[in-house]
Amino acid sequence: MTNLPGHPNVITGPELVEHGQEHARRAGAEWVTADVTALDPAGQSVSLSTADGRIFEAEQVVLTTGASVALARAAGLTTRPATEPHIKEAIVVDAQGRTSIPGVWAAGTAAGVSVHVIVTAGDGARVVLNLISTRKGQRHVDHDVLMQAPAAVR
Ligand SMILES: Cc1cc2nc3c(=O)[nH]c(=O)nc-3n(C[C@H](O)[C@H](O)[C@H](O)COP(=O)(O)OP(=O)(O)OC[C@H]3O[C@@H](n4cnc5c(N)ncnc54)[C@H](O)[C@@H]3O)c2cc1C
Repeated sequence: MTNLPGHPNVITGPELVEHGQEHARRAGAEWVTADVTALDPAGQSVSLSTADGRIFEAEQVVLTTGASVALARAAGLTTRPATEPHIKEAIVVDAQGRTSIPGVWAAGTAAGVSVHVIVTAGDGARVVLNLISTRKGQRHVDHDVLMQAPAAVR
């Protein structure tokens, strides 16, 4: 990968993915690798079936399947012709990143946003912040904030 702001020297795609996974693990995420073959909204949850026979239940799912919308299509999500170069089809999302099926969100190239990492990664973050904020009922911020200065006494 030759053109990524913040990385003036070349970083390969696999290196970037490894760094991201390591960062996520340090933040408490469990990383599971699997080929997801089916996505099935069932009541309050979404069921994910994998090629190796496992089934995962999730309250919320964010699809970031890149150039492929095969899983989304098979699940009945609404798609549209894509406008980004080399991308045929994209998942239809609202301004928050919600797809046509409750509990299923989409971001990045799969949502037709871009084919540039800095934008697709940022879009993933944006959509996940929307998801967390929706669950919390207030806007979520995931880093330190400056304390508000006390009002000047006159
Ligand atoms: C050769 C090449 C060079 C590039 N160079 C640059 C560059 O220099 N700068 C730049 O900004 N961009 C570059 N890009 C583009 C950039 O890699 C993509 O735009 C970006 O990675 C898209 O991010 P994404 O998260 O939306 O999808 P992706 O990074 O494509 O991730 C999608 C992931 O979903 C997985 N997936 C799909 N379906 C399933 C399923 N059913 N089950 C499980 N997993 C699934 C895929 O295997 C993949 O790992 C390059 C792309 C290529 C191919």
